[in-house]
Amino acid sequence: MRSILGTLTESQKLLFLAPLFLVGCGSDLSDRPVFSGVRALSFIEAQVSFGPRVPGSVASRKCQNYLVNFFDSLGYHSQRQKFVHRDYRTNETIEMQNLFFERKLSSENQAGTRILLCAHYDSRPRCDRDPDPDRRNDSLPGANDGGSGVAVLMELALIFDSVPPETSVDFAFFDGEDWGEQGDIDQYCLGSIEFAGQVPAMRYRFAILLDIVGHLDAKFYREGNSEKYARELNDHFWEIALEMRPNRFVDSVGISIMDDHIPLLGARIPTIDIIDLSYPQWHTSSDLPEYCDTTALSDIGEVVAELVYREKK
Ligand SMILES: [Zn+2]
Repeated sequence: MRSILGTLTESQKLLFLAPLFLVGCGSDLSDRPVFSGVRALSFIEAQVSFGPRVPGSVASRKCQNYLVNFFDSLGYHSQRQKFVHRDYRTNETIEMQNLFFERKLSSENQAGTRILLCAHYDSRPRCDRDPDPDRRNDSLPGANDGGSGVAVLMELALIFDSVPPETSVDFAFFDGEDWGEQGDIDQYCLGSIEFAGQVPAMRYRFAILLDIVGHLDAKFYREGNSEKYARELNDHFWEIALEMRPNRFVDSVGISIMDDHIPLLGARIPTIDIIDLSYPQWHTSSDLPEYCDTTALSDIGEVVAELVYREKK
C-alpha cells in the first residue's frame, strides 16, 4: 500500500498490517482479496470525524484532502472539479468540488474500455427528518448517507490496487448531491450534473453509484430508474448479487429515485444506483457510524468487486 499508510489513522494502519486474505471467487481470476467491512467502517468513522461534509465547509475540505491523499497514494491521477452553485432560495453562493480519480493508462482510453464507480461525499446541510424539531437545522453527520458509499469505494480501490482487474476502474465523488430542501428537486445532484457535463462519456462501459449502502439490515431492491434506463447492467448486477448474497438483494423493483445516476444516464453512461432508503436514521442527527454494519458494507463491496473482476478487456 506504499505511502498510503501516511494518510491513515492508527486503527486503519493496523488493518493494513494484517495479511490480505485471498479467496477463490466466481471470476476467472483464481484469487482476489476479501473485502474488509471492518476497514470500510473505519473509513466511515474517519469521514464522520471531520464533521458534516456540507459543501463549502472546513469539514468538506478536510474530506476532499483525505480522499485526494488516499487515491494519490494508490497512484491515481487526481482531479478536483470546482464549480459554484448559487442557491436560488437563499441567494447564497457555495463553492463545490467533485473529486475524480483516474487510472492513467493511455492504452485504455478507447471507447467503452473503463468502468466508473461513484458516490456522493457531501453531507446534507439539515436533518429535516429528525424526530426532534430542534435538531432539524443541524447538519447531517452522514455516516451512511454519503459516508458509506465513499467507504465502500475506498476499500474497493485497495482491493483493485492489490489485484488489478482487467478493466480499468475510475472513481468519482460528487459534491452537492444532498443540498436541496425536500421537494426542491432542482437543487439536488449538483456535482453529478456538473460532472456529467464534462465527462468523456464514451470512455465508460458503465457506471455504478452507491448511496446509503451500509446500515444494519440493509436490503436492496432494483431501483426504478436504473431498471428503466440501464436494464442490461441492472440485470447483470442482480444476477451476481443474488448468486452471492441472496439474503441482501431482492429480485424485484423498488422505488425510483432522483440520485446522481440520473445526470450520468443523461450523459449516455449506462448507470445503476444501489441504494436502500429504508434506513430509519435517514436525514436525522442519528445517521452515525454506530448504525452502520460491517457485513452490509462487505456484502455490497463483494458484489461490486465480483462484477468488476468478471469484466473482460
Ligand atoms: Zn440524503
